[in-house]
Amino acid sequence: MMTTGMIPGPRKHHRCRSVFSRRVASGRRRTRAAATSRFRDGNRLKASELRRAWVLDASGFTDSPMDGVDPTGKSEEVSVQFRVTESSKRLTIRFAHDFFTDAHLTILTERVVQMAKAVGRALSDLNFQPAVKMDVGGRVDEFDSLSGSVQSQLARWFGNNLPNDEVRKIRGIFGSVWGAIVNSPKAFSRLNFQDLPQPKDAPTRVAEAGWNNILLYPLFWDETPRRQVGVLFHEMTHFYGGTKDFGTYFKDVSLARKKNGEHEVESPVYEKDGNEVTLTREQRLNHADTYEGYLEDFYLDDVSNKK
Ligand SMILES: [Zn+2]
Repeated sequence: MMTTGMIPGPRKHHRCRSVFSRRVASGRRRTRAAATSRFRDGNRLKASELRRAWVLDASGFTDSPMDGVDPTGKSEEVSVQFRVTESSKRLTIRFAHDFFTDAHLTILTERVVQMAKAVGRALSDLNFQPAVKMDVGGRVDEFDSLSGSVQSQLARWFGNNLPNDEVRKIRGIFGSVWGAIVNSPKAFSRLNFQDLPQPKDAPTRVAEAGWNNILLYPLFWDETPRRQVGVLFHEMTHFYGGTKDFGTYFKDVSLARKKNGEHEVESPVYEKDGNEVTLTREQRLNHADTYEGYLEDFYLDDVSNKK
């Protein structure tokens, strides 16, 4: 049942398009690896210089410059650590960033840590045990084994009484992002981000999963902190979990709460090209925005949703 009253307008931006074909991309990955092997220490170029370099060099690419090779050949790495509350261990995340100003890098670093914490909490609620080798046959995966609150969270975004394979699918998507985070300090496993000018053919795109990077566009920095974390997670589910967009995104009313904490609408509302659409259960299991909505709905209360 939909409640009446104020419902926010449609979202202004499509946040990404489907991930590039990894098969198509593989040929260029070697070139990219060569470019990123020359890491700079400090001495970062100013944003204006980077953008100029990008504009100049991008003209040489026949296809979209955003999935081309870093024209400056300059990339830097950051390692961030945070304490994992439950175990008191420290988790290190390593990521590379191209074209970032100091201000954007500061924001990105904070968002990556917030995203990691939220994904960790979500996985913990799904009975994910990172230290235990996945043994599908021997695990207790039943929906019934999850707490009542987690069951209702899953029911809202994915469906009620999910069969084992669907619970595993959801856990697997979260786990693939988590795996990328915890493996990032290892050689060749860092997370990669690029801060790029707005693509001319996509004036409303906020971010997307490129062939070797998460690409962030100027509109990304206009989003609220909570949405920024959600977008990073959305793109990572494309990149590491193989999710799709199906051309549809949830409307913000899906997340709206009344004063008493209840949702304003009983079920998430999706739209495609301005029209409300219904996703099938199978689509939802493979839909990046459904995972983003789940994370924003339940695991990012500690991250501001104000600009
Ligand atoms: Zn997407």
